[in-house]
Amino acid sequence: MKKALFILISILILSSCYKGKSVDLIIHNANIHTMNETNDLAQAIAIKDGKIVELGPERQILNKYSSDEIIDAQGKDLYPGLTDCHGHILSYADQKLSVDLVGAKSMDEVLFRTEKYQSKHHRKFILGRGWDQSLWGTTEFPTNESLNKLFPHIPVCLIRIDGHALLANDKLLEMAGINSESNIEGGIIHLKNGKCTGFLVDNAMLPVQNLVPEYPVKEKISAILEIQEELLQYGITGVHEAGIDFEDIELFKNLIDQHGLSINVYAMLMPSEKNISFAEKHGIYTYKNLLIRSFKVMGDGALGSRGAFLKHDYEDAPGHRGVLTTSVEFMNRVASIAMKFGYQMNTHAIGDSTNKIMLKMYKRIFTENPDHRWRIEHAQVVDPSDFSLFSMYGVFPSVQPSHAVSDQRWAEARIGVNRMKGAYAYRTLLDQYGMLAIGTDFPIEYIDPFNTIHAAVRRQNQENYPTGGFYVNQSITLEECLKGMTIWAAFASFQENELGSLEKGKNATFVIFDEPIVDRSEYKANFAWKTFIKGKQKYSVN
Ligand SMILES: [Zn+2]
Repeated sequence: MKKALFILISILILSSCYKGKSVDLIIHNANIHTMNETNDLAQAIAIKDGKIVELGPERQILNKYSSDEIIDAQGKDLYPGLTDCHGHILSYADQKLSVDLVGAKSMDEVLFRTEKYQSKHHRKFILGRGWDQSLWGTTEFPTNESLNKLFPHIPVCLIRIDGHALLANDKLLEMAGINSESNIEGGIIHLKNGKCTGFLVDNAMLPVQNLVPEYPVKEKISAILEIQEELLQYGITGVHEAGIDFEDIELFKNLIDQHGLSINVYAMLMPSEKNISFAEKHGIYTYKNLLIRSFKVMGDGALGSRGAFLKHDYEDAPGHRGVLTTSVEFMNRVASIAMKFGYQMNTHAIGDSTNKIMLKMYKRIFTENPDHRWRIEHAQVVDPSDFSLFSMYGVFPSVQPSHAVSDQRWAEARIGVNRMKGAYAYRTLLDQYGMLAIGTDFPIEYIDPFNTIHAAVRRQNQENYPTGGFYVNQSITLEECLKGMTIWAAFASFQENELGSLEKGKNATFVIFDEPIVDRSEYKANFAWKTFIKGKQKYSVN
């Protein structure tokens, strides 16, 4: 009996010596890229209450800590969870519930898919998304004649891939009160032989879009949860949601409370009166993993539909320069409100004229607060003489490298070789500001972060086109691209104290990739082996 007691006491003493401090989770045998300022590497990490307790060499962590949950990462690469700095969860959910027109090779295919969808769903209002006439071997925009024949009585709205143009059938035009005499500021209504073709650009879309009914909440929720699964599979743990409305705040809160939405959502508010009053009432607003402290403003349209506002005429449309979709006066008002409530202003600017206008507008905030981090979303075509304004006024460029390789088919036709020098110029923008916020603009582009990496580093699309890369002098490195999805993404959303790098006290939000992340000539999708948010495993291959 005495002997047994002695053994028991000895075991207790030994285990308390060797057991170390108790934590919730230890991951070891990992190749941990901390993405901290000195880019330190580590092999093991100890986690408690969703936070990082310590990182370090294998033995140091294993000797010092104990846990019921220990994961051997098999030497795989571990990175901070990735953030998509410009995405649209809500439009993607809508896209999932609508006719999927992405990749349709002709107008006939658009019609075929629409008919097939309707025979299954029997909607009272048909909404489709994702067509792109530049894949049809034509430079002309489509007209609604065949759509009218197929659907004479049900309204049909087919939104172009870039979200800046749509094709409506006559039934819908009639409901929206749009005819050949209509004139909508900041928008274009295409006519043929004096009749509306149903092709509407930018603000001309608004009367039609106001009629689009919402999908039932239940359907939306299941679509958003599907999207979360897809993001986690890629190791994406956060999205900067580029433009939501007042009503969507409740939807996100409901998703967080009732349906396990755990990714970090940095949502930008559209500057509607309702949303502005929300900002006035709440200021910087945090609800669990939802953070709201910015306005998304639409400066102009897209280059593909010639809605981007240029300083000089479009190369392929003389006499046409695109338009500002929001007046300078209103944007100035939003800027003042944002300054007052500590909000960030993130303005969509594609054309060189819009970029210049915004850069100058942001000067006002810079004089008050040099670390304002106000963003320009896309910064797609910039007059080379304006690049220095990004550093001069501290303007954060938020870019989507996959746009460069998607648009390379027609970008030069739109703006000509000379202006290409300042287009999709991520290298120059990075050199100016020192950071880039990197995203995809999904569902316009693929969510896959390695598609973005391939576009940013190699300047090639998934088919490795063009050979040698598209304006390859504007490429950035793999490391820079990963920073744009981690630590710079955190800076771009004022979350660098919790997110973006793996350091003591920060959130234990990270991804362990299945395949090693190394510089290679071709980046293929590399899925997460496991994805963790605040110390909890949210995705695992097995
Ligand atoms: Zn967008």
